[in-house]
Amino acid sequence: MNSSDSRQLTTPAPSPHDYVGTPALATPAQVIVDVLGAPEPQLCDPAEPMIFADDLAAVRGDGVFETLMLRNGEVHNLQRHATRFVTSAAMLDLGEPDLDRWLAATELAAEAFGASVGAPEAALRWVYSRGRESTGQATGWVTVAPIAADVLTARQSGVKVMTAERGFRIDLSERSPWALIGAKTLSYAANMAALRYAKAHGLQDVIFVSDEGHVLEGPTSSVVVLRDNTLVTPPIEAGVLPGTTQAALFRVAEEQGWETAYEVLSVQDLIESDGVWLVSSVRVQARVTELDGHEMPRAECADEIEQMMWEAVAH
Ligand code: PLP
Repeated sequence: MNSSDSRQLTTPAPSPHDYVGTPALATPAQVIVDVLGAPEPQLCDPAEPMIFADDLAAVRGDGVFETLMLRNGEVHNLQRHATRFVTSAAMLDLGEPDLDRWLAATELAAEAFGASVGAPEAALRWVYSRGRESTGQATGWVTVAPIAADVLTARQSGVKVMTAERGFRIDLSERSPWALIGAKTLSYAANMAALRYAKAHGLQDVIFVSDEGHVLEGPTSSVVVLRDNTLVTPPIEAGVLPGTTQAALFRVAEEQGWETAYEVLSVQDLIESDGVWLVSSVRVQARVTELDGHEMPRAECADEIEQMMWEAVAH
């Protein structure tokens, strides 16, 4: 599999025009580090294939990943990502990741990216697969790629969003542990399909709702809502991924005297709120400017909230 194929497992295939900071490159620059294939993490040639055709990441999406923000040579919210990575791996019965090894690979990848591409911001991804079907040997790799232009646009101009049924009840995680709710698995095809559907309808993003109409999360983001001077997000038990950005934001907000809460929310709650944001590690924040056709005006304190979001990812 070549470098662009490995990226397609987790994000929609970008065109070279989607990249910023590297306009002269005909193909997206990318750094790849093989984490588990040799005694020590090793840089790979991004123009060469690096996994086998029977890798269960490619064949079944059977593995876990993390996407971290790399800014000026440093990865952010590392501890939160590492903790979720270990939890996700445990939920899939994968061997416990050797974090020292993943951190060494991350350092190698960040250095190589700084030396070869040098864009100030990038997405650094950890991928840990059940490995080869034929050998049972786990595989793992780290990639770094520049940030897509639509992420930058979403930060600046916000996003028009549709709600979409996720197709399960809110108690699925309790009833069906095999649904892997709360694990960051590689099986993102449905999430990507929802985003493509939204884009085909002139929108930029999606908020999933449960069968009961409870707000869950975006396909690649957590939902944060401002109401009554409180920052609110759906509880993890609702069936969402525990977001590292949302968690870091709540800590910063509490330090600055804001109230925070985990609450079950309806779509109407969002429409009547003082603001809704989609937050995630690389995007940081994108304010929802329109939800199911309802305009969402910008609250006076939106600048302050977005400032806290940036502070939250600065560590
Ligand atoms: N929910 C889902 C489904 C996601 O894929 C992501 C990130 O990709 C998030 C939430 C936000 O997580 P984080 O803030 O850790 O990037």
